[in-house]
Amino acid sequence: MMIRTLIQTTILSTSLLVPSMALAQDDVQVQTTDLGHGLYMLATDQAGNVGILVGEDGVFMIDTQYERLAPLIDHAQREISGQDVELVLNTHWHGDHVQGNAYFAERGAVIAAHHTVRERLTHPQTSHLLGSTAEPLAGAFLPSLNLGDHFTITMNGQTADIVHTPTAHTDGDLFIVFEEANVIHAGDLLFSGMFPYIDLDTGGTVEGYIAGMEAIIARSDENTKIISGHGPLSTRADLEASVAMLREGKARVQALVDQGLTLAQIQEANPLADFHEDWNWRFITTERMTTTLYRDITGRLE
Ligand SMILES: [Zn+2]
Repeated sequence: MMIRTLIQTTILSTSLLVPSMALAQDDVQVQTTDLGHGLYMLATDQAGNVGILVGEDGVFMIDTQYERLAPLIDHAQREISGQDVELVLNTHWHGDHVQGNAYFAERGAVIAAHHTVRERLTHPQTSHLLGSTAEPLAGAFLPSLNLGDHFTITMNGQTADIVHTPTAHTDGDLFIVFEEANVIHAGDLLFSGMFPYIDLDTGGTVEGYIAGMEAIIARSDENTKIISGHGPLSTRADLEASVAMLREGKARVQALVDQGLTLAQIQEANPLADFHEDWNWRFITTERMTTTLYRDITGRLE
């Protein structure tokens, strides 16, 4: 697929933290946000947010979105760096974070991820919550650098501290702390202002997810710029709000489980009703969040 012509460049919006610029193409836009120290967030409304670190040592990219969007993402990073991507890190195995891998690998990038990601990607993965199965990937889509639980990359004057959080959103989540820049890429440990997807079928748990968010909070201060997996550029306060919502939501569902209610009865009682307006979204609805909490607590599907 050729890199298509850039249709327009516009100033779209100004975030709370820093000015942003958007590249528009057909109906998909890449919004580029300069975080300082050679770090940028590249966002579309289609898939997981991308982070890049640009400098003399080359381009380090975190997550690659979908295959069809990879040329657009590459175009956006080239506008900044003028070069190919050197190193890709996947925060976890989900398709909206890894399907652009082959595009960048074929242009010379090394693909890195937690070692469980390669194992997940080479076998079918079924989600009971979504009612769908992700088919295996092969060849250039797969990570070739399979990381352990703690890893440091020094590049472009920045130290990237890469931390595995077991049993969180999946079993292979990494978050990345850029210490000098005070920037963190949270991967899907942060769905900012939205109910999170906790993938119980591939090793995620609610307590592990909360522990993962708390691990990021522990590495943050009030000035830390946090690239969410989904949603806007965020702050520690967004993580704290998400932790509080999940803890309260889990306690409410737990109380109904303790009374002996079935999943259907709990859905009917709708214990998350007052979270609906602020946290419900098209992918993780209030009903799906309730189902996730029930299944996590009981270990049962119904
Ligand atoms: Zn995900």
